[in-house]
Amino acid sequence: MKLHEYQAKELLAKFGVPVPPGRIAFTPDEAKAIANEYGSLTVIKAQVHVGGRGKAGGVKLAKDANEAYDRAKAILGMDIKGLTVRKVLVGKAVDIAKEYYCGLIVDRNVQGYTLMVSKEGGVDIEEVAATNPEAITRFAIDPIKGLRPFEARDIALQAGLEGNLNKIAAMMVGLYNAAVGVDASLAEINPLVITEQGDVIAADAKIDIDDNAMYRHPELEMYREVESEHPLEVEAKAFGFSYVKLDGHIGVIGNGAGLVMTSLDVVSRVGGKAANFLDIGGGAKAEVVYNAVKLVLKDPDVKGILINIFGGITRADEVAKGVLRALDEGILTKPLAMRVAGTAEAEALALLEGKPINMYPTMTEAATAVVKEAAL
Ligand code: GDP
Ligand code: MG
Repeated sequence: MKLHEYQAKELLAKFGVPVPPGRIAFTPDEAKAIANEYGSLTVIKAQVHVGGRGKAGGVKLAKDANEAYDRAKAILGMDIKGLTVRKVLVGKAVDIAKEYYCGLIVDRNVQGYTLMVSKEGGVDIEEVAATNPEAITRFAIDPIKGLRPFEARDIALQAGLEGNLNKIAAMMVGLYNAAVGVDASLAEINPLVITEQGDVIAADAKIDIDDNAMYRHPELEMYREVESEHPLEVEAKAFGFSYVKLDGHIGVIGNGAGLVMTSLDVVSRVGGKAANFLDIGGGAKAEVVYNAVKLVLKDPDVKGILINIFGGITRADEVAKGVLRALDEGILTKPLAMRVAGTAEAEALALLEGKPINMYPTMTEAATAVVKEAAL
């Protein structure tokens, strides 16, 4: 789950990271009122779940309340990378002397968080990472010991950061504690600002929370914005499915993440491209399969469906019944190929006898068939 900047800042503040004061406005009038209250230079910032807002014109300074009104008016409703701006953060502007970068990602190679620090912070960090990766210093944090201030100071020095190293290190430690505390898959401060007065402050923040850890964080549910997630992913969640929208044209349904991943690979190998990942889990009854088929068919990109089920605790005949229900109801309008092996396979075959649904003994054959039919 992605958080907005203002939400990420709220969390970081709880972990002792200094952030500028700021509040959310949904209208230019609200922005004006907030700016009026601050009575100083403010910064009006689009709150959308994408980076690069500054370059897209979604971050503007305002010298007074009237200008805050105008800026908010221009930014609200703006389209940034396909997302409409519905709210802006009105923050007290910080007096920037230097813009640095610090970020944490869950790094599979080190089985923990990797801290990345650069003195080339600001709006071009992606470009720095692509063209000048040496400008980013990396440090694998020991998950048992955590990030200790002396290590953070050392990294800051190595990266060439200038300023009060104790304050900079404290910010990194705060960021790390926040990331661990909320199970973030990514947490970054960019720019990490050194002000003209020598203070260290997080002028922008980004946090992504690992969806698989959300059950541990009921307090973060309030940050969820269902309307900014893919509608099919929202619906899938309601059914308890693991569903990920992809950009191909073959809907893939299977049981068990490993088998579904393999099915995606097989679809690619036979020349197709998957439209989604959908894991119906173990022990699915006919209704679950029916719901899965119905969901996948709601995706206009889908031109054909591959069902790949290994019948262990999932019975193949239940799978067949679910698919047949979709067929009987006239929902199943696209070619569908199945490979269902294991428990109750013979019963499934008997149910599908004479129906326009093809069963194949192997997933490669099923995938080949549906990719071919989908191309017609
Ligand atoms: P992003 O483009 O989505 O990463 O948005 P940021 O919040 O990082 O803002 C982009 C840029 O706007 C920053 O790198 C700063 O240069 C500038 N900016 C943001 N907030 C302030 C502020 O409070 N004061 C000043 N002077 N500039 C700011
Ligand atoms: Mg930024």
